[in-house]
Amino acid sequence: CGIVGIVGRAPVAPLIVDALKRLEYRGYDSAGVATILDGRLDRRRAEGKLVNLERRIAESPLDGTIGIGHTRWATHGVPNETNAHPHFSNDVAIVHNGIIENFAEIRAELQADGYVFASQTDTEVVAHLISREIDRGAAPVDAAFAALKRLEGAFALAILFRGDEDLIVGARSGPPLAIGHGDGEMYLGSDAIALAPFTNIVTYLEDGDWVVLRRGGLEIYDMNGERIERAQQQSIGTR
Ligand code: GLU
Repeated sequence: CGIVGIVGRAPVAPLIVDALKRLEYRGYDSAGVATILDGRLDRRRAEGKLVNLERRIAESPLDGTIGIGHTRWATHGVPNETNAHPHFSNDVAIVHNGIIENFAEIRAELQADGYVFASQTDTEVVAHLISREIDRGAAPVDAAFAALKRLEGAFALAILFRGDEDLIVGARSGPPLAIGHGDGEMYLGSDAIALAPFTNIVTYLEDGDWVVLRRGGLEIYDMNGERIERAQQQSIGTR
């Protein structure tokens, strides 16, 4: 339902939660944040309101200067902590808005290959699909692109890779996704309103776009893997 991602310089978990609060008006049933620190993916998730997630993080802080967060509106799988995003596979963390229509077919294929599913969501197939590409030797960005080509349905995605603490891949096919430009930091959000505290310079992805975000900037590609340009815009944001 709501997505926020930051490749930043300060600890991002509190910033991500604050940005998610700006999306609360959309409604949600659970929330979560994942970061990478010292080559490890970590996450906190909670059912219900963002205050529950904040309490979880207060009890057990989540460090790291790169991270993704999500407020979930369940479509596949009951609203509980196990089904809350971010979803993990070995090397990958993922948040997702929308529905992966062909998830059942992909899940059966991945299970046959030995990938074990922890949740009932359609989303989790994307994490394992990317992980399988990495397990087969693909670099993170190539793994993400290969997985994206398999997906049918409506999605906005943000993806973290355990092996690269300067990389978020985002993708849009349906639900909106905006990129925020910072000073040595980059942001991603399902609504530019979420990014308003950080920057008022945004780039909106169009359907079929996917993006490689690093602290130093962004590269946008289409579904043929061709590099494309999208204009930067002034958002209504104030810093
Ligand atoms: N289909 C996904 C799920 O049920 C994402 C729902 C959403 O957009 O929040 O977990």
